[in-house]
Amino acid sequence: MSNLIAKIENWIDETLESHCEQMVPCKQLSSYFDGYFSEKFLTNCFYMVVPELPKPDFPELRDAGFGSFIDDDHAGITYKNGYFIRAEQEDNLYLHLHELVHVCQWTILGAEKFITTYMEELQKYGYEDAPLEQMAKAFEYNYSIHADPIDVMDALRDELA
Ligand SMILES: [Zn+2]
Repeated sequence: MSNLIAKIENWIDETLESHCEQMVPCKQLSSYFDGYFSEKFLTNCFYMVVPELPKPDFPELRDAGFGSFIDDDHAGITYKNGYFIRAEQEDNLYLHLHELVHVCQWTILGAEKFITTYMEELQKYGYEDAPLEQMAKAFEYNYSIHADPIDVMDALRDELA
């Protein structure tokens, strides 16, 4: 299993590196997310607009039951401090917020723990009900009803501790 995690992490690093020219700094979104993410945090986050979201399509992942996750058409996907979205989603602030919550999770948990936890949750709960997804959706909801902003990093440090 740990070999597989290492393989996924290598794939992520290569994927991010091969898209480095398309990386847009999330700092430019900071005015929209006042109170949610610090400017310092956003300075270290990037998004990339792509025609198709890259996913690690390994046979061993399909064998382990992740085929539908690999094939499903998601709106965005986060790897470490970068996330990929399709062009038609570039103005979707809810999606940016959602993916930035995932960046916080990656930051707090670290790559190995994030990947392991996310895979376990996919197997146990499925994509929609995975707790790491539910957390992102909860912040999206808070944002959508214009509730008082919540510092995502602070809140998740408690939740993931
Ligand atoms: Zn998500």
